[in-house]
Amino acid sequence: MPPSSAHSTSPLLGSHLSVAGGMHLAITEALSLKLDCLQVFTKNQQQWKAPPLAAEAVTAWRTAVAAAGWNSLTAPRLVSHASYLINLASPNQELWDKSLDLMTEEITRCDTLGIPLLVSHPGSSTGTPKPEGITRIAQAYRELFKRTAGCRIISCLEATVGAGSMIGGTFEELATLRQQILDLTGQPDRVGFCIDTCHIHAAGYALDSAASTAAIITQMDAAFGLQSIRCLHLNDSLAPAASRKDRHAHITLGTISRDAWAVILRHPLLGALPAILETPKGDSPSGTPFDAINTELLRALTAGREPTLTHAASAAPAPASAAAPTTKSRTQPSRKPTAAAASKPTSKPASKAAPAKAKTTTKSNTAAKPKPKATAKAATKATSKPATGRAGRSAK
Ligand SMILES: [Zn+2]
Ligand SMILES: [Zn+2]
Repeated sequence: MPPSSAHSTSPLLGSHLSVAGGMHLAITEALSLKLDCLQVFTKNQQQWKAPPLAAEAVTAWRTAVAAAGWNSLTAPRLVSHASYLINLASPNQELWDKSLDLMTEEITRCDTLGIPLLVSHPGSSTGTPKPEGITRIAQAYRELFKRTAGCRIISCLEATVGAGSMIGGTFEELATLRQQILDLTGQPDRVGFCIDTCHIHAAGYALDSAASTAAIITQMDAAFGLQSIRCLHLNDSLAPAASRKDRHAHITLGTISRDAWAVILRHPLLGALPAILETPKGDSPSGTPFDAINTELLRALTAGREPTLTHAASAAPAPASAAAPTTKSRTQPSRKPTAAAASKPTSKPASKAAPAKAKTTTKSNTAAKPKPKATAKAATKATSKPATGRAGRSAK
């Protein structure tokens, strides 16, 4: 694709979707939600064991991917998120070995499925100094890349909130980590970053205005070069900046400035990356999937126009039960409580969507989203429940 395809006003927006019932169904759902890209778990993210991918499942997936035109490795539309159990920074040899094995499996599955990007949390040094944890991660990658020689899958180290021993909470730490991996593997094409807006905001890179967002992008560029970022996670943050709490909220219903999104998505490099929502699932009181609403908000804010959808009901708020039976309930077993929770604080008329160029002051933000904290809290609640034993429902 020519560089001009990085059109700054039409970002590649997607979401983390469930693979329950068959991986290929996530593609179907993504297309029905009018998404441009997709993130999945290729196995149950809460289990060490991974049953082998069935040949027919791989075929169904690859057929769906090709039909969608999403099979390019150079202009990626598909992202896999590695298991949360993996900790390549662990000082515990047994856990490190298990993590290495599972990470090998994650890369191999991506290779089999033609998923170009694999996002993983760097890890936690669990009580030992972080530099030691970083060294262990780099050593793990040396082994990983030996085991998976020839794979073109790009490992995307995800920025984290940096709580406790968690690695990846500063841009410098991420830069050091990637550099050490490169020193041991010599494969810069296989290691990049995933920047999660909620995580960096909670880590202290406050996305609280257009200006601060632009400054943070400059900081990232100085620390590790923006070209090493391979994908984005676009999540608003329920918790305030620098809280080091990882609580995803719907776009515009958290503590991130409404003006931050356009700065990120109009950026010539960042705006061309696959950008994945990991926001709460469910439907609005009017029955619109939250993924559709969040992507519409991002598109509208990027284009500087009025959004056609909001999280609130456009008319009188429907009773919670009315939102439950929809045709898309396959992936949303907890839809009813989610919609019910989200409808509460938005019972005021919200048909008046905020202008796209809202000021960054708290006042104008508040006008656009009544009781933002309560809304975000209520809406986030539903995702804090564990996935129902099937891969693919929640993502951090
Ligand atoms: Zn998160
Ligand atoms: Zn994320």
